[in-house]
This record gives sequence, C-alpha cells and structure tokens, in this order.
Amino acid sequence: MSNTVPAAMAVILSGPSGVGKSTVCRNLFNQLSSTGFSVSCTTRAPRPGEQQGVHYNFVSQEEFAVRRDQGEFLEWAEVHGQFYGTLKSEVFPRLAAGTNVILDIDVQGARQILGNIAGSALVQHFLTVFMAPPSLNALAERLRGRRTEDAAAIQRRLEAGLQELQHWREYDYLLINDNADAAAAALAAIITAAKCRTTMQNKEPWL
Ligand code: 5GP
Repeated sequence: MSNTVPAAMAVILSGPSGVGKSTVCRNLFNQLSSTGFSVSCTTRAPRPGEQQGVHYNFVSQEEFAVRRDQGEFLEWAEVHGQFYGTLKSEVFPRLAAGTNVILDIDVQGARQILGNIAGSALVQHFLTVFMAPPSLNALAERLRGRRTEDAAAIQRRLEAGLQELQHWREYDYLLINDNADAAAAALAAIITAAKCRTTMQNKEPWL
C-alpha cells in the first residue's frame, strides 16, 4: 500500500445463511465512512428485490467458469450447489484507495484468501469476523421469515449453517447478532481498532 493513502481494512465476514450479515453491513455503512461492500459473482438466481451489480453480479455457469479461468477471482467456492466468487477488482482497488471493504463469504472462501495472502504485506489489511445467531431457533425463524426459499432449500441452508457454525474459532472475532444496530456498532469498533494497530501505521505526523 502507498504511504500517502490512509490505512484500510478488508473484513472477511462469515456466518450461516440468515444470520443477518447483509442487514448488519447496511447499518455499518451508515456508521462508518469510507467502507464498501465487495459485490461477489454468483450463479444463483436473484431473490426478489436483489439487484444486479448491487447485491451480486449474477452470472451464468459459463461466464463464471471463464472469469475463474482468467484469474479474476481472489477466491471462489461452491455453496449450496451454486458458485460464488470474490473479484480481485472489488477488493484491491478499494484498499489501495484507503477504503475499507467487507467480504461476505463462506468459510471455504475465507480459508482460501488467508492461504493466498499468507506471508505477504496484505496480511495486516485483512481481518476475519464470524457472525453467529443468539440461538438456532432464531436462525431458523429468520430463514423462514425471509420467505425467499422453499422448505427444502431452507432445510439445506440450516444444515449447512450448523456445519458453518462449527468453524467460528478459525476467525479473529466472534459477533453474536441479537441486535443489528449493536452488531454493526461492534463491527465498526473492530475495524476502527484494527486500523489503529501500530503495524498499520507508516507515518509520524507529529514530526
Ligand atoms: P446467499 O446465497 O444467501 O446470498 O449466500 C450464501 C452463502 O454464500 C453465504 O454464506 C455467503 O457468505 C456465501 N458467499 C457469498 N458470496 C461469496 C463469495 O464470493 N465467495 C464465497 N466463498 N462465498 C460467498
């Protein structure tokens, strides 16, 4: 990173489907300036209300494969039978410009990124946060309340969520989302604190 732009963090945010990552991120963007969302590519169909280029870049299986083979993804994974991938172009230009970026990705994707950046100067710009529900009942209720998936898809997501929850210890921070405002405030605090690490500083403005 250039030493003329402010330090920025890339936050890998994982947690079971339905735990409220999108809502918490929306609240976060209201609380913390210079923070954006990495819009992933996915082969899954848009849910009602989801917009192309805002929530995801919705692409065909063929386009996904081409972009993967061209090396456009920082990581990619198959989740719930569909492909998802993080574009390098969503992450690195933002970090270079001093903008924080949130990556809502699953555990496999988080591991891939950490593996890819291990030993590089990028490591200090990445932090990992796992978001968990206050209870399994709350998670099931949220998935059902969303009314965007049929019963079989909800069941699949709940089972995958249970698997995903087992990995929270692999992350730097655990955030229990029992209130979206409080969770967003905690996330903002985590990012702000990370940016104050002495290892993130490259200027001595008092000189
Ligand atoms: P949903 O279909 O509910 O939007 O997302 C399903 C799961 O895919 C979530 O756990 C989400 O974190 C994960 N996901 C979304 N985008 C990406 C991505 O670019 N890469 C990976 N590895 N997972 C993603």
